[in-house]
Amino acid sequence: MCPSCYSICKMKRLLTIITAGFLCQVSCIQNAWPGETEDDPVRNGIRLSQLSSHPVRSIAYWRQGDQFKVQKTRIGPAPPELIEFMRLDNTFQGYSERPVPAPRDSEFLRDVETAMASLPRAVRRIAERRLFYIALVRDLGGGTGYMDVVAGSDGSAAGGFIILDEGALDRNANAWASWREGSAFQPGADWSIEVRIEAPANDNRVNAIRYILLHEIGHVVDAVIGATQIGGGNTQNIAGNGFYDLSWTYPPPSQEIVVPGDTLRSRFDSAWPDRELLAFYSFNESRYDVADIQPVYQWLRGTNFPTLYAATSSADDFAESFVNYVHVVLDKRPFEIRLRQGGQSEFLLSSCWESPRCADKKATMKRLLLRAEVLQ
Ligand SMILES: [Zn+2]
Repeated sequence: MCPSCYSICKMKRLLTIITAGFLCQVSCIQNAWPGETEDDPVRNGIRLSQLSSHPVRSIAYWRQGDQFKVQKTRIGPAPPELIEFMRLDNTFQGYSERPVPAPRDSEFLRDVETAMASLPRAVRRIAERRLFYIALVRDLGGGTGYMDVVAGSDGSAAGGFIILDEGALDRNANAWASWREGSAFQPGADWSIEVRIEAPANDNRVNAIRYILLHEIGHVVDAVIGATQIGGGNTQNIAGNGFYDLSWTYPPPSQEIVVPGDTLRSRFDSAWPDRELLAFYSFNESRYDVADIQPVYQWLRGTNFPTLYAATSSADDFAESFVNYVHVVLDKRPFEIRLRQGGQSEFLLSSCWESPRCADKKATMKRLLLRAEVLQ
């Protein structure tokens, strides 16, 4: 489960399969589907190329000239082609759920519209040009939602679409943020992590959806400008773009990388070599328990990652930096994390944007948001 960044999880699964194809040639050949190749694996009767080349991943599906084919607000029930894409993807991934469009007139639709309308103007301008649709479904399977990249006529990332499962988004903002943060540690009855991203008067589902949407829009921006590799860029393309180098290092030239974070090292790993074991939404499967919480956040306060989630991969570093920068700096909303244990409340983390540790990243986020290619 990876509710607010499911695209990354899915992408990792797909690309891990591709990588495995290079590594296990004998066993793969023995178990291959008819016509299966290393570049086009088949899972449960579905070819990877059926997903990667599906019409919904092309700009021609979403636009005709300067006009969008979907309704004006670009928020609504998933169209039939997108439902087909999701069902193919679920089959490929091994999920049994068969998504259906959410109702056209629902409280969830109104909450998503309210959340989008509340975004700062700079982000709405990006969304108007690069976010082609927010599709609402039921029975998505495997998560709460995800973003996928849409290719332009030249094959580069033109933008993306977001899918949200209305049945899985039932928490208010602070409860959702606390639930996500705590998911990286084994559950315990005598402690909890409390994340405050909204004042009590604004602690509602709209603002939970708002934070999730900002994270996914961050992935869309990343794909368009090539800050990491989510849009299909390569190591050379991300070199020198100003974001990646702030927190991440490159692998040796001979080491083919597929998704940042899988094989890459952060610049802060020497102080926490087990960073790669960090996994959100792992709950009982987590490699970390309550005893690790204070040391992990102490390490985090010595990095330039704005959140713990940002430390999981360069792509989620960008998405988390984007959402947290917009949320705290542009919107002036709260961000604080505390550990509650045995009747005590201990400070873990607050916004980093006024701290020297995030000064370079703050300047970079400000500059990237103003880059012309995001807005064209
Ligand atoms: Zn994400």
